[in-house]
Amino acid sequence: MALSSGSSSSRDSREKITIQNVSKSYESTQALANVSFSVLEGEFCCVVGPSGCGKTTLLRAIAGLDDPDGGSILVGGDPVTGPGLNRGMVFQEYALFPWRTVRGNIRFGLDRPACDCPNCEARVRELIDLVGLKGFEDAYPKELSGGMKQRVGIARALAPDPEILLLDEPFGSVDARTRDRLHAELLDIWAQTGQTVVFVTHDIDEAVTLADRVVVMDADPGTVQSTFSIDLERPRERTSRDFVDHVAQIRDELGSPVDTSH
Ligand code: ADP
Repeated sequence: MALSSGSSSSRDSREKITIQNVSKSYESTQALANVSFSVLEGEFCCVVGPSGCGKTTLLRAIAGLDDPDGGSILVGGDPVTGPGLNRGMVFQEYALFPWRTVRGNIRFGLDRPACDCPNCEARVRELIDLVGLKGFEDAYPKELSGGMKQRVGIARALAPDPEILLLDEPFGSVDARTRDRLHAELLDIWAQTGQTVVFVTHDIDEAVTLADRVVVMDADPGTVQSTFSIDLERPRERTSRDFVDHVAQIRDELGSPVDTSH
């Protein structure tokens, strides 16, 4: 089931994100070395690997928040040269504005955050409904649980209706039950929007729960080790034999358990 990660110069027309020989160093640390893989339009791709293997660096490069030192990233065939409304990012530590309400934080994701025209107001209401935060419109981040904060982060990223959703360990700080609920909600949103998703996690169970495909990375320097297709119906039952087999194969590939905390 593991496919080789080899780079290719010819682009499949279904590719939404094409990562070609991307490298990035920070002083003496090589965070990414010749990373190549692609994500198809509408695909849910999870990237797993040990801490420090360059997952966040890679996601930030796709978002256009950091420049790679070498290689290229194409979105829909066009090189990424900076952030764009076609890519929404959900950060690990929420990155909400503490002085803005739920409504204000979500509004900030819109193309025109200050606009209070009926269309923008309606879009904010729609997003609040979509992520299940009705009734909390005027709450501030400090009044919200971790799961609710991340719902705000997701709504803000979805605000401009991006083609691509990038999530960096978004549920790492929420309890297991909330995480399960957020997984189901995220899959519902994905089914509704048809977005292309890149979801970074160090949790193999989470990756197999969500992904069409799992890209496994290795560290020192960060490289793509292999890619696994997860051809299981959703919702996925974590105790099923197929699910457990997929998890075991990825764990074997990584060589050691990435996360045994849950
Ligand atoms: P991961 O998300 O897989 O944990 P990161 O992309 O955060 O990995 O980091 C990859 C490597 O790059 C790590 O060794 C990390 O310490 C280093 N690194 C990341 N960001 C910086 C930075 N801004 N300055 C220096 N080193 C960094």
